Amino acid sequence: MTENKPIIRVKDLVVSFGAFRAVDGVSFSVRRGEIFGFLGANGAGKTTTIRTICGILNPSAGSVKVDGHDISSSTAVLKPHIGYMSQKFTLYPDLTVRENLYFAGSLYGMTPAQIAARSHKLMDFIGLSEDLPDPVSHLSGGVKQMAALASSLLHDPELVFLDEPTAGTSPQTRASFWALIRRLAELGKTVFVTTHYMDEAEYCGRIALMERGKIVALGTPQELKAQFFPVKPLELSFSKPVAHALRQALEQAGISAAVFGTHLRVRAPDRAAFEQATAPFRGGFSVRETEPTLEDVFLQAVSGRKAV
Ligand code: ATP
Repeated sequence: MTENKPIIRVKDLVVSFGAFRAVDGVSFSVRRGEIFGFLGANGAGKTTTIRTICGILNPSAGSVKVDGHDISSSTAVLKPHIGYMSQKFTLYPDLTVRENLYFAGSLYGMTPAQIAARSHKLMDFIGLSEDLPDPVSHLSGGVKQMAALASSLLHDPELVFLDEPTAGTSPQTRASFWALIRRLAELGKTVFVTTHYMDEAEYCGRIALMERGKIVALGTPQELKAQFFPVKPLELSFSKPVAHALRQALEQAGISAAVFGTHLRVRAPDRAAFEQATAPFRGGFSVRETEPTLEDVFLQAVSGRKAV
């Protein structure tokens, strides 16, 4: 693949199922070696976008280029360069991990000797035993996901799509998985990952937030925080039991407030409106500015309200 050009260029992409536009005019590019995160609620269109970039679905309109090649007409050329760990199906449950890897390798025309050498290296990289005797259906969720990652990397692709790779796994597995993702990027791979976990999104170089088929925000985590929160969120702690009434007063004033444990987290771009709404409760709470999180950004971006 060629250096110095974006590895993925998506322009005005539309993917329709009948009259329904699952992807509705999406444009973005992904740089080589980047960890690019795709976030969005269920049904936002993330998987459909990925499947189109991988050449599994055809665009209804617009263009998708991978390494300068139009994906629709160059799927065979590009297939060896792309790895895809899909959300639902990557491994055969009745086969062992080793059998799955041999099957996956054979689909890419690898010889048994090549598969053996590559499996050995990969399992070492991932930290899994090559000789797990049980069929995949008997393995824990975390081990299954690691094995699925191995399967998607077997043919040594430069561009790897991971569709919710950590969904439903333990915090330890998530941490291990992200350590592997970072190492893949250090090795020069481009990683395109979807997640619902906002803490994971912090590890991405850039993030696209998708909502109902459209990208509603795109940038580094820092850029998105600055874009959506030029005025920092507030954290309110209570010395009197006013939380419920205060929250109602804020919401009546159109100010978003969410309960976080013993605090209220408040997005109040208009500080005068905040002061006015909270005036009757003065003395009942203390307030401090906090850094926005990506969860704040996500909620702000998909709420349809004007960014603060
Ligand atoms: P999730 O986080 O739940 O995986 P997503 O953002 O990946 O969601 P998609 O799977 O891309 O979303 O789905 C986008 C929309 O397109 C959804 O409304 C879904 O029901 C619809 N959709 C996806 N595939 C098809 C299909 N083959 N036929 C009809 N509708 C589809």
